[in-house]
Amino acid sequence: MSSVSPIQIPSRLPLLLTHEGVLLPGSTIRTSVDTARNLQLVRSRLLKGTSLQSTILGVIPNTPDPASDTQDLPPLHRIGTAALAVQVVGSNWPKPHYTLLITGLCRFQIVQVLKEKPYPVAEVEQLDRLEEFPNTCKTREELGELSEQFYKYAVQILDAVSLEERFKMTIPLLVRQIEGLKLLQKTRKPKQDDDKRVIAIRPIRRLTHIPGTLEDEDEDEDNDDIVMLEKKIRTSSMPEQAHKVCVKEIKRLKKMPQSMPEYALTRNYLELMVELPWNKSTTDRLDIRAARILLDNDHYAMEKLKKRVLEYLAVRQLKNNLKGPILCFVGPPGVGKTSVGRSVAKTLGREFHRIALGGVCDQSDIRGHRRTYVGSMPGRIINGLKTVGVNNPVFLLDEVDKLGKSLQGDPAAALLEVLDPEQNHNFTDHYLNVAFDLSQVLFIATANTTATIPPALLDRMEIIQVPGYTQEEKIEIAHRHLIPKQLEQHGLTPQQIQIPQVTTLAIITRYTREAGVRSLDRKFGAICRAVAVKVAEGQHKEAKLDRSDITEGEGCREHILEDAKPESINDTTDLALPPEMPILIDFHALKDILGPPMYEMEVSERLSQPGVAIGLAWTPLGGKIMFVEASRMDGEGQLTLTGQLGDVMKESAHLAISWLRSNAKKYHLTNAFGSFDLLDNTDIHLHFPAGAVTKDGPSAGVTIVTCLASLFSGRLVRSDVAMTGEITLRGLVLPVGGIKDKVLAAHRAGLKQIIIPQRNEKDLEEIPSNVRQDLSFVTASCLDEVLNAAFDGGFTVKTRPGLVNSKL
Ligand code: ADP
Repeated sequence: MSSVSPIQIPSRLPLLLTHEGVLLPGSTIRTSVDTARNLQLVRSRLLKGTSLQSTILGVIPNTPDPASDTQDLPPLHRIGTAALAVQVVGSNWPKPHYTLLITGLCRFQIVQVLKEKPYPVAEVEQLDRLEEFPNTCKTREELGELSEQFYKYAVQILDAVSLEERFKMTIPLLVRQIEGLKLLQKTRKPKQDDDKRVIAIRPIRRLTHIPGTLEDEDEDEDNDDIVMLEKKIRTSSMPEQAHKVCVKEIKRLKKMPQSMPEYALTRNYLELMVELPWNKSTTDRLDIRAARILLDNDHYAMEKLKKRVLEYLAVRQLKNNLKGPILCFVGPPGVGKTSVGRSVAKTLGREFHRIALGGVCDQSDIRGHRRTYVGSMPGRIINGLKTVGVNNPVFLLDEVDKLGKSLQGDPAAALLEVLDPEQNHNFTDHYLNVAFDLSQVLFIATANTTATIPPALLDRMEIIQVPGYTQEEKIEIAHRHLIPKQLEQHGLTPQQIQIPQVTTLAIITRYTREAGVRSLDRKFGAICRAVAVKVAEGQHKEAKLDRSDITEGEGCREHILEDAKPESINDTTDLALPPEMPILIDFHALKDILGPPMYEMEVSERLSQPGVAIGLAWTPLGGKIMFVEASRMDGEGQLTLTGQLGDVMKESAHLAISWLRSNAKKYHLTNAFGSFDLLDNTDIHLHFPAGAVTKDGPSAGVTIVTCLASLFSGRLVRSDVAMTGEITLRGLVLPVGGIKDKVLAAHRAGLKQIIIPQRNEKDLEEIPSNVRQDLSFVTASCLDEVLNAAFDGGFTVKTRPGLVNSKL
């Protein structure tokens, strides 16, 4: 570096006033930009769009001054350093804050300040040229590091334009620094061969400790850590390539001053590298019979899922490798997808780790940030491996249907690489920057719906549908699994609390409305908490009673009061005697703990007028009953649709109206003016309540027709009927999806008759027999059949002779 081409700085420079150390030519510092003045400068000079503009700035050291952010420009130091901004990081939220990485080029002197607002700009004169510098870059860097403590000293060095003057100032500093380093070396060396000497030397070193040099106790500990780290690298079983990188990095680390931001970055990196389970794995144990028992013990029902999981495990055992599609459990929340994933890990004797992907929209969440960033870190896959500490865990990729996309790249693409058996033995996280073999990891994905899973990802996976539970299944799950688990978590025993099945049923029908059992589980949690308080209070009182503190008086009076309902929790009066065990959770107690029921049967009330029908919808959260309401008014034949509808749903509404208009005479449907032209001087409004939920899909077709047929005929739709089916312009009924979930929802809502497309008849086999027994099914191939089933006494064609004749 004997000669460097001269740099001519511009004669006008925007000025950046720093109060975090002094930037010297040839050194690089990081400075935070938080004053209004500097923020303005960064925004208008450095950031255009999202890219960094290369602008030369004048950096002026500014003595920290509490009033520095006032409107007026503080008195400026005369000499500064022209600098190049290398990097800007930061954000505008919650408040604007940036950090600048700047490299000093050469000194300048302010000739005149040209403007002060919004940030100062000055006419400057360049003071030194780069090639005049002797080869002392490293020394300058070190001085830069010292500049925080030696603020004043550093400013003086900055002001020393002539080389001679500068050397005079810096040499004593350097000498002190070198002395310090020598001592440090002395203390380090004997460490390996003679521990006793270290003890002897350390106090000496402390005595000669020069304040302001880099030595202190912390550093001492750090050095020990580095030695440890080096040892760990040496003994680690990481692959050769990774090992090489570590050796290189630790060499760099040893040379770095600790106050450099890169020091911590490199150290964290190395610590992660030695911690990663490059070669550490658990031994698989797989016994299909034991697996079946475990799955059955942990989960009630879900036969299809359990069967498929066992098949998968059996094939794995025979083939002895993991290549093949990734299992993806698709179903509403709380149906046990995660729980089955956990059981798979348990049967294999593997570690389990859940990676939540909901809302992830940045590639680096999966694949890590490059290490050049401040705050960079590895992605969730590598982090997961570090957490579990073995290279063959079961990773549950939760909610793959909720992956987002953003400017920061497509996380689905990164995930594809993770899941691809051809590529994943060489997975390179951006932070690690060396390949990690993921081929031993068993991935299982979960989703609420396949509709939003990126197609390429869907292609890699084998979808297993996990439908919602029936009421009876929920009761069984509650009593076999949820209640025992909650009792254990709350330190209760079955001798202390009793929840009869009727209470569970009441919770299921009146306090929850869900396909899975998650809220049900939470309700039991709430009950257990309430009972735990009573039990704890009881124990407290028992103890008091033992001491015979209360034998008469107030205590006895309350006991008599309590006698009326001895075992129920619903009496909130402070009992003098402990509650009688077990505490029975009856309906009164439920009301007390959970409040009034949230869902009451409302169906028949809502169907008390013409123009309302019940449809069945499928949502990622399970099946739902859906009311369709219609009204008509004077108008010009407009159709208004409300209730957050998708395009397909709107088309169904238009189809339904067209079909009814063309069949108005056949069914004798008239508008308010007695005309068969239903839209003549009439507007129709169709509404799908529960507006917060977007509804789409063709399956509401039959419901819209029924609802409008009710409106124009003035007849009520049967209040216990629900229906689903797509329609065509000619009045045919086409099959739809999600029959099981829809039927379960209708059953939950207490409906009795369900109209489904004829071609969906085969789907009824999936419905548990006890649910089927409660319901009657009508399979329809055309709208005539739908209408006949939906109205009491049928919706037969009115064959009025006059009408027929007029047609002839
Ligand atoms: P998901 O992942 O589908 O949202 P979870 O696996 O988190 O659902 O299940 C929620 C809770 O319900 C868990 O405590 C789980 O053990 C329990 N659970 C769900 N289905 C069953 C089942 N069939 N048998 C036993 N427990 C179940």
